[in-house]
Parts: sequence; C-alpha cells; structure tokens
Amino acid sequence: MAARPPRIAIIGAGIGGLTAAACLRRVGVDVGIYEQARGFTRLGAGIQQAPNSIRVLYALGLKDKLLASAFQPETNDSRDYDTGNLTNSQPYGQSVLDRHGVPYFLMHRGDLHAMLAEAVPSDVIRLNHKLAGIENTADGSVKMTFTNGDTARADAVIGADGVHSIVRTFMHGEEAPRFTGRVAYRTVFPVSLLGGLTPYGCVKWWGPDRHIVSYFVNPRRDELYFVTSTPEPEFDVESWSAKGDLATLRAAYDTFHPQVRAILAACPDVHKWALVERDPLSHWVEGNVALLGDSCHPMTPYMAQGASTSIEDGAILSRCLAGVDRDGLHDALLRYEATRKPRTSRIQQTSAQNTWLKQPHDADWVYGYDAWTVPLAN
Ligand SMILES: Cc1cc2nc3c(=O)[nH]c(=O)nc-3n(C[C@H](O)[C@H](O)[C@H](O)COP(=O)(O)OP(=O)(O)OC[C@H]3O[C@@H](n4cnc5c(N)ncnc54)[C@H](O)[C@@H]3O)c2cc1C
Repeated sequence: MAARPPRIAIIGAGIGGLTAAACLRRVGVDVGIYEQARGFTRLGAGIQQAPNSIRVLYALGLKDKLLASAFQPETNDSRDYDTGNLTNSQPYGQSVLDRHGVPYFLMHRGDLHAMLAEAVPSDVIRLNHKLAGIENTADGSVKMTFTNGDTARADAVIGADGVHSIVRTFMHGEEAPRFTGRVAYRTVFPVSLLGGLTPYGCVKWWGPDRHIVSYFVNPRRDELYFVTSTPEPEFDVESWSAKGDLATLRAAYDTFHPQVRAILAACPDVHKWALVERDPLSHWVEGNVALLGDSCHPMTPYMAQGASTSIEDGAILSRCLAGVDRDGLHDALLRYEATRKPRTSRIQQTSAQNTWLKQPHDADWVYGYDAWTVPLAN
C-alpha cells in the first residue's frame, strides 16, 4: 500500500501563510490553514513588492491580477525632508523589468492579500481557529489545540502567525518583540482630496530623525498611501489604539516639505502601528514544527522586505518539502531553515539601519534573488 502523503498545517492566513499554502499545493502537498480571525478585513495600507517576491507570485499564476491592480513606479525617489532635494532616484519601471525580468509593484495590501486568498481553495482555510497549544508527539505527528475547543493533528506545522507568534513562544519561550520607540502612521486615501496637487509617484522624504514614504497603490493613480516612521518612545505598545491622532501626526511633520504637509492636511484619517523587531532567532525548527515569515524574521519596514521575504520562504519551503515522506519532514524543515536564515538575517540587519536606497547603491542582492532556482542548503 502506498504511504500516505504528509499533511501540513499552517497557522495564520497572512501573506506568508497563504503563499506557503499555495506553493505547497503546487507541489502536491496536502495542506490546511488555521486562522484566528473570523474573516478577512481590508486594511488601509499599501505594500511594495519587489522582483524577489514577484517571481514567486507570478509562478502562482498572479501575473494578470498584479498587472491589473498594482502601480509600477518609474523611479523610487529619496528626497531631503525640507528642501525636497533629490538624493537618489532609483530606476524602477522598465529598468527593473529589463534587469530582473519582472516588475516592481506598489499596491493596496488588501489586493495582495485577496489574490493570495483566492490562490488556495476556500475549504483549505479554517477561520476562527486561534492556536492555543502545540506539541510534538511521540508518534511523530504534531498536535494542535485551539481556543474554540477544537484539536487537530498534522505531520508538520508551519507557524506563520506573525510577529506575536504563539508558535515562536512555544519554541523559544515568552519574549515580546523589541519596540523600536517608533510608530508608523499609515493610510490610503483618494488623490482627489489633494485639491489638484499631483504627488510624486513613489518618494521617501528623509528627515533627521523621522521619515515619510508615499506612493500610488493602483495603475489609475487615484489612491495614495503614506507610511511614516515617527519617534514616540513613550508610546504604550500594549494599550495602543489602531487609530492615530491627525493633529499629532501633522505636528510631527510641520517642518517637512509643502507636499508632505499637503498630503497630511488632506488625509481624512490614519492608523497607527508600533514598529517592533527581533534579532535573528537561534533556530526556526523543533521536531516537525517550523516558523515562517514575521514569526521568525520580523523586521523594520525600511526595505519593504518583510512580506517579500515571507513570500520567498513559502517557495523555498515547497521546494524542500516536495516529494518528502513523513519520515523525511524534520530534515526537510532543517534544510528550509538553513537555506533561508542567512538571507533573512542579513535583510533584518540591513533594514534596521534605515539607509536603504537613500543614496544610489546596488539592490541586486535583494531584488535578484530567485527562490525557485537558488541552491538549497545541504
Ligand atoms: C508599517 C509597515 C509597513 C510595511 N510595508 C511592507 C512593504 O511595503 N513590503 C513588504 O514586503 N513588507 C512590508 N511590511 C512587512 C509585512 O507587513 C510583514 O512582514 C508581513 O505581513 C508578514 O506576513 P506574515 O504572514 O508572516 O504575518 P502576518 O501578516 O502578521 O499574518 C499572521 C497571521 O496569523 C494570524 N494569527 C496570529 N496568531 C494566530 C494564532 N494564535 N492562531 C491562528 N492564527 C493566528 C493572524 O491573524 C494573521 O492573519 C510592513 C510592515 C509594517 C509594520
């Protein structure tokens, strides 16, 4: 009798978990996702996706959806916060296409999440399943318990449950991510509210101790996103409200260029996130449990690579698990970790410096990565 193929459970239906599920299904792996939310909400945020993740998304059949819904900037500009002096104009658009074979996209985060959710059959995702406990059992399977009272078993479990990952806690113990002392205000709003001002397509305004990034999130250029990194060291991370105060935000940028002030004056509301990070973890795998995405390599958003590297993780995971039987799962997961950790650790550390693309420099080591062809670790 043929051996039963391994069954993989993924905790979390965020960008990382959904991508991993779609990649695993592509190589015939049986997969189920457990997500704590009762449904998906469309978060008011933009997201940048560079060629390194676009290669993965194209292989999942998302090319047409991306081309239809995402904006392709000609350049990614860095400007001094007050004078607007251009310090770098990184060529994107056709230049990225020529160099990397795929575009650099700016888009609505909700659009990316929705297309990934559509890339897996709906019955693969079990909503309202918040993981409460996880255990490697003596028979080699992994037992999961959920706060709704359900239990489940799988041959391996992937913790794609984000920066506050409970799977990480089971592996490494309780340790909150480090608050950087900075918050991100962010929102998406109609360009028509700018009263005739045409904003730059993709720009980062670099202040002495804070910055703001803005870009269009669709090819029609009718919605603008901005995201800040604003020092607020006294911010109580545990009791934060998702809404930001517009007056506080505007005051924090009142010495910035008139375009920045016009954007902040026009936006009708704003959300606020604490920016947190962790140092690279010692290990991502215990038994047949492994971590993926922000659960194991959360980073500051200053290279726009958190979701992109989570997407890469899914592709590499699928290559490591393809054709593997249940006895081979632990070694395959170790191989996944060994392939991924050097790269994500380097990106975490580079992102923390917040100098990416301020001046012209080589971005190929990030954007040139092809998760489908890079050698797997031995
Ligand atoms: C301000 C800001 C801007 C950013 N901009 C970019 C960008 O432009 N480009 C980019 O690539 N990245 C960006 N990022 C990073 C990106 O958002 C993250 O790296 C990415 O969302 C990580 O995906 P994930 O799937 O690992 O985690 P998440 O997106 O956090 O998903 C985790 C999922 O797990 C679920 N979950 C959590 N706990 C449980 C549980 N116990 N049981 C079941 N389910 C659970 C959650 O509900 C959620 O659905 C940005 C981040 C921030 C903060």
